[in-house]
Amino acid sequence: MGDRTYSSLLLNERAYTATRVLLAAIAWLLVWAGLATGTSQLYGPLMLSGALVATFTTVGVVAASRFGHIAFETILIWAAPVDLIALGLSVAALHGYGDPVLAVVLAFVVFYGHLLERRPALLVAIAATLVYLGAHAAVQPFAEWYETLFLGMKGLAVLYVGTLSAVMSERHREREYEVGEAVLERGRMAEELQRRVDELQAILDVNEMVHSSFDLDRVGASIVETLCRTVGIAGATVTVMDKRKNETLFSASSGLAQPAAGVPDQLALAVEAADGQLELAEQHLICRSIQDHKDMIVLFCTDPSSMERLGHRETQVLKAISTGLVVAVENSRLYRLTHRLAVTDDLTGLYNYRYLQQRLDDEIERSRRYEKTFSLLMLDIDGFKRFNDTQGHLAGDRALADLGAVIRSAVREVDIVTRYGGEEFSVILPETDSSGALIAAEKIREAVAAHEFLDAGGQPGLRLTVSIGLATYPAHAADKESLLRHADDAVYQAKADGKDRVRVAQAALADGAEEEATAAERGSSE
Ligand code: GH3
Ligand code: MG
Ligand code: MG
Repeated sequence: MGDRTYSSLLLNERAYTATRVLLAAIAWLLVWAGLATGTSQLYGPLMLSGALVATFTTVGVVAASRFGHIAFETILIWAAPVDLIALGLSVAALHGYGDPVLAVVLAFVVFYGHLLERRPALLVAIAATLVYLGAHAAVQPFAEWYETLFLGMKGLAVLYVGTLSAVMSERHREREYEVGEAVLERGRMAEELQRRVDELQAILDVNEMVHSSFDLDRVGASIVETLCRTVGIAGATVTVMDKRKNETLFSASSGLAQPAAGVPDQLALAVEAADGQLELAEQHLICRSIQDHKDMIVLFCTDPSSMERLGHRETQVLKAISTGLVVAVENSRLYRLTHRLAVTDDLTGLYNYRYLQQRLDDEIERSRRYEKTFSLLMLDIDGFKRFNDTQGHLAGDRALADLGAVIRSAVREVDIVTRYGGEEFSVILPETDSSGALIAAEKIREAVAAHEFLDAGGQPGLRLTVSIGLATYPAHAADKESLLRHADDAVYQAKADGKDRVRVAQAALADGAEEEATAAERGSSE
């Protein structure tokens, strides 16, 4: 828009200067013609003065606009009165020649009407009319009344054309301004629309992120980063809390010098008590509740100045994003719970048979890839049927649960203890060869033998023993089924050898580790 105004102004300026030069040239042409033909009025003092003034103004205008760096508008205002003088002189000089300067006067008012603001343009039109009439009257009042009438009509024509030019130009400028405004407004709207689209895209992105993964913590930082970018702040912490338990279910930060660690306990309750917004002066943070859904509350913490900058729109975006987050946190929680239930044994709280199968697959895969070894223990309680028969099934169940705990506490944190089924248990010992596994198995066996189980009346003092079979991957077996079978066979061997003992599987693939293990086993039994 600005460009168009500029170029039209440039064109006006050039046209104006060119016209001036042309008119000054015509004036001198007339003077020359007068000299050549002896028409004294054409080179008389009036015409000569008019041509001189016109030339002088034209030179002034060109110099001022080229070298003076003076605004075109200012040049026009200064040039107009001088031009009027030149016109008056020319009108007077050519009074007796059929009024040729009228055309120039008309062009003059049209031009100035177009170039000047309305008020100065009107003034110029009035002045031009007066100069035109005055110049005629000054030279020689008309003899006939109708001659005076005609002159009056021509004066009115000058006034009319000048006024019309001023008014029309003003209207034209107003239209140009309106169009310019409309274009600007359209630009603003396009920008606004783009911002909205970006916000929607961010909401979609975050939704996709939170729903693409059940492991929210992995995508947490990206979520908060997207959120900050969308609402135009440098950094923030987003925390989803269970209000009832005051438990943090999700927390992630982006772009903060002092991230979520600084968020204190009881924050959810404190923010609620403070009417949804709380200042954490020590962390230089302000926390605001942006979502309150059942037991869950979403807290948005950022520095005070960023928080102040968040308007209604930004808050809406935050709300929209946090709605997706709450749903995702709920899903993730449910998923984890379901997953845990699906792999947990009710009675003992240990992992169940299904989990054992999964983990064996994983361990075999891992051992294969990294050329590692791991061992599997299978445990069977000795004479458990009798325990049940004498103490009852309830006491039997309790003993199973106790036994699970005894095994669990006898092994390392990384070892995976599962209830295989009934009164059989198994333990995966990652990165453990047969000799290491034998030591672990002995530890379990001894711990069980030393434990006092409760009888039907709840009194301690009952003893149980276990027979343990041990098999190692890949020393004893090349796949899962074979590994389980070897461990099972070893349990039978332990039973056959008199129970309450550990037996190592017979090597299917004889190697050094197996021999070592057998030697260790010999040493450990009795
Ligand atoms: P062995 O020394 O040969 O192992 O003799 P055992 O009596 O332990 O025989 P077996 O290993 O076959 O154990 C089966 C018994 O284990 C049957 C049942 O009485 C008991 N049992 C299996 N599962 C459960 C259970 O979930 N609860 C209870 N209370 N007892 C169970
Ligand atoms: Mg059994
Ligand atoms: Mg048994």
